[in-house]
Amino acid sequence: MRKISIFGATGSIGQNTIDLIRRAPGDYNVVALTGGANIAQLAQDARALRADIAVTAYDDKLPELRAALDGSGIVAAAGQAALVEAASRPADWVMSAIVGAAGLAPGLEALKQGATLSLANKELLVCAGALLLETARSHNARLLPVDSEHSAVFQGLVGEDIAAVERVVITASGGAFRDWPLEQLKTATVAQASSHPNWDMGQRITIDSASMFNKALEVIETREFFRVDPDQIEVVVHPESIVHALVGFRDGALMAHLGAPDMRHAIGYALHWPERRELPVERLDLARLAQLTFRAPDPARYPALRLAYDVMARGGLMGAVFNAAKERALDHFIAGRIGFLDMAEVVARVLDQFDSADRGLDEAMTLDTVRRTDHLARMDADNEILKYVR
Ligand code: NDP
Ligand code: MG
Repeated sequence: MRKISIFGATGSIGQNTIDLIRRAPGDYNVVALTGGANIAQLAQDARALRADIAVTAYDDKLPELRAALDGSGIVAAAGQAALVEAASRPADWVMSAIVGAAGLAPGLEALKQGATLSLANKELLVCAGALLLETARSHNARLLPVDSEHSAVFQGLVGEDIAAVERVVITASGGAFRDWPLEQLKTATVAQASSHPNWDMGQRITIDSASMFNKALEVIETREFFRVDPDQIEVVVHPESIVHALVGFRDGALMAHLGAPDMRHAIGYALHWPERRELPVERLDLARLAQLTFRAPDPARYPALRLAYDVMARGGLMGAVFNAAKERALDHFIAGRIGFLDMAEVVARVLDQFDSADRGLDEAMTLDTVRRTDHLARMDADNEILKYVR
């Protein structure tokens, strides 16, 4: 039986992972499940999967979790240290699906144990790519992509020589506002931004899809995962979300990965890798689809995309600045303090401030320097937001 742990088990990716696990209960021995505020879901899944330990990220939720697990024999724990302790428990396969930089310390700890870390949480590669890759290398651990585009690229590279790759094209649905008039974007509400035309995902990534901050993170994720140069990475808007990514080779061939927009494909591929097993996803009927469309992303509509290329050009710890400023801008948008288009403005200003002042961007990348940079960038973003609050 394979030992597995799921970080962010109560979220959208976590629940899709559990759906796959539950179809073959005899194959898995569940070590740790973690969540945040959704204690009922966490306890229910921990009982159903007979996990060894269930952890909530929030200390004040511990009594509720303990009560919900009473009599089950499952250990209940809470807080950041408990998340890292759960990651230190031996597991063969670990799903990293906590949203945001909060997943960094547990992800690094799982790699230190030599686990295969399946990375849904793209923020980790954006804020600490070099550190993650080096930790995986030095502990003989493996990182597998779960983001649909990166899983598609990974599958497109099987048996290929990375040196023969000319370009990588990742697709973007264009998000909730892809067909809105530009001037209307200013007034877009949180509820409007939280509804995705094709994918059913957590609220934060759904809003990031509407602003293309999600694609901006994914461009950086592509660079970190596959070590291609920034000018080899292209984004194309593909409203149907059927083609997830394409890999272009030096002989001109462009290999595409197609599939229904269902994250259980990418999760299942990582779960069973290097095998391919039966997965409960829809089979495409190409004749019924009839057509697939592509268009270039409009830079005026999606300013976040350009920022990703600025971040890659600067290098060092700038990815941590970018991710942290984006997370705070998104918090403030969700709280109603700033408008939809203000998010990219705030992030751009924070990047400028870090670039022009001596903020240690070129220090060695360690958990401490990433955390310090993340903290400073969040403070800068909060200061910027004060200018918008009326
Ligand atoms: P959700 O918001 O649905 O779930 C996030 C999970 O993280 C939940 O279990 C949540 O707990 C937990 N969590 C929230 N805050 C914290 C915290 N501070 N510390 C520890 N745990 C926390 O997100 P998604 O599942 O949509 O996304 C997860 C990751 O996967 C993100 O990085 C996202 O970008 C990426 N991803 C998601 C895709 C999708 O289809 N959803 C597709 C590709 C990538 P609780 O809910 O109990 O509070
Ligand atoms: Mg994606």
